[in-house]
Amino acid sequence: MPELTPGAVVTLAPRLRRILAPNPGIFTGPGTNTYLLGEDELAVIDPGPDDPVHIEAVAAAGAGRIRWILVTHTHPDHAPGAAGLAKLTGAEVLGFDARDDFNPDTEIGDGWSLRTPEIHLSAVHTPGHASNHLCYLLESERILLSGDHIMSGSTVIISPPDGDMAAYMQALARLELIKPPIRTILPGHGDVIDDPKAKVEEYITHRRAREEEVYAVVAESGKAGLDDIVSVVYAGVAPEYHPLARFSVWAHLRKMADEGRVRSADRDDMSAEWHPVRRRSQARRSRTKQT
Ligand SMILES: [Zn+2]
Repeated sequence: MPELTPGAVVTLAPRLRRILAPNPGIFTGPGTNTYLLGEDELAVIDPGPDDPVHIEAVAAAGAGRIRWILVTHTHPDHAPGAAGLAKLTGAEVLGFDARDDFNPDTEIGDGWSLRTPEIHLSAVHTPGHASNHLCYLLESERILLSGDHIMSGSTVIISPPDGDMAAYMQALARLELIKPPIRTILPGHGDVIDDPKAKVEEYITHRRAREEEVYAVVAESGKAGLDDIVSVVYAGVAPEYHPLARFSVWAHLRKMADEGRVRSADRDDMSAEWHPVRRRSQARRSRTKQT
């Protein structure tokens, strides 16, 4: 595996290069991966943060041939570099919508595609981490540029209200249905993922298990706040991650509230307490037993 060094231009495949932005951190792992696709006419995926050194490195690697700047979503470690890179290159900026100071020239959605003599790229709408999240599929190579939908090494944070756990789970399941199957995932953070099927299944299994752990705390205690749940479910995880874990727990609770498993006085209030919806789940269980 080529090592992740900020600013280094790494060739991953013919017509496919990666430059790591110098923004490592708790959300970003080693930093944001910026990808360059093509040779004669280039598309850039995720220009990264508004960091002049990184933007100049990307522009230099593009050598005057960058035509399109695409973002997976509008979070601050992915999209703000678009404006500066567009200024340097004159490239067209594309993304799902205008938000968080990101203003695309063209709004694109699920099924949008870009065809050049060198590349054929399609957008796959994958809400969950962000409602405006797109993955990009290189059709002939079956390579998915996954942004923050799937990461390598770090955890995807689902932060309501824009983050949505039910949508996230559906969008994960959808990746498994893509035909022909994806061969490789190039994530927004971390190194190349060579076993996409195993990775997606691991993600789904992990989320389902977490959700049952969250439910168990609520069901056993009768009422629980986010901190109570995090201290049990994330007991084995370093405390510095607990503030982030609160968001994922909250996202699971909101999903389960929609499914009628738990309830709270105000699902939009992070300090609200959550209760199990006992009667309905017990009734369902006894019905299952009878049949
Ligand atoms: Zn990110």
